[in-house]
Amino acid sequence: MSSPPKPGIEILRPPAGRQFTCALLDFDGTISLIRQGWQDVMIPMMMKVLSGLDHGLSESQLHDLIREDVTVLTGRQTIYQMIRLAERVRQFGGTPAEPLEYKREYHRRLMARIAHRRQGLARGECPPDTMMLAGARPMLEALRTRGLKLYLTSGTDEPYVVEEARLLQIAQYFDGGIYGARDDYKTYSKAAVVRRMLSDNRIAGPDLLGIGDGFVEIVNVREVGGYAVGVASDEARGGGRADAWKRDRLIQAGADMIVPDFANLEGILEVLFGPGS
Ligand SMILES: [Mg+2]
Repeated sequence: MSSPPKPGIEILRPPAGRQFTCALLDFDGTISLIRQGWQDVMIPMMMKVLSGLDHGLSESQLHDLIREDVTVLTGRQTIYQMIRLAERVRQFGGTPAEPLEYKREYHRRLMARIAHRRQGLARGECPPDTMMLAGARPMLEALRTRGLKLYLTSGTDEPYVVEEARLLQIAQYFDGGIYGARDDYKTYSKAAVVRRMLSDNRIAGPDLLGIGDGFVEIVNVREVGGYAVGVASDEARGGGRADAWKRDRLIQAGADMIVPDFANLEGILEVLFGPGS
């Protein structure tokens, strides 16, 4: 049985008869574009911190190293990226600041960059769907229509995730809850939310659907036997193109399927729930 090709969808392993009952969704880069460009704030800030230290790398080698550090930790709480930065400072012979201090500085720079987006949404000047990946809202609605319980999980500080989900008018879809980074960061992880989803709902790992653009959520979902959709979103350019670099990393993390966004929702739903779903 061959099904027609589905533009933009790359299937590495089909879900083969799974019955999804719960879904874990990442927020930034998967649904929301409010923080689009955060990497272009974080990476230069880290370059600046490491410049002048004894790393023996060219500018572009240092950039690649940092980009890899940032990427493999994407999806975890921001503080972990800052802990890695502090480790690099130490490795290169410097004396690091507290990771929390780095995180505050990063957040200050990021908020300066995205304040106008949050204001535009808050004032109603910007339609919420223009700050979301193509097809994200219909995708959330389709999952709810099919009876899935939805959980939103993010590495961004929880009060901001809750606020930005409200600004995008999508908070109501997440009947399983909205989870984000805590000051006491050891008390939260996506892996812990996954475990709680399985036990609270008395479901098995294969019934779990994960959708995200970060390394971490893909790993966490696959670890329990769930099905992971990697969203290789090109947040800056959009338009249904997959970001090749992100795609490769998501496949490395174990993604079962790759999509650039949810524009081809019909095709995605057919893969996940079968034809005519
Ligand atoms: Mg993300």
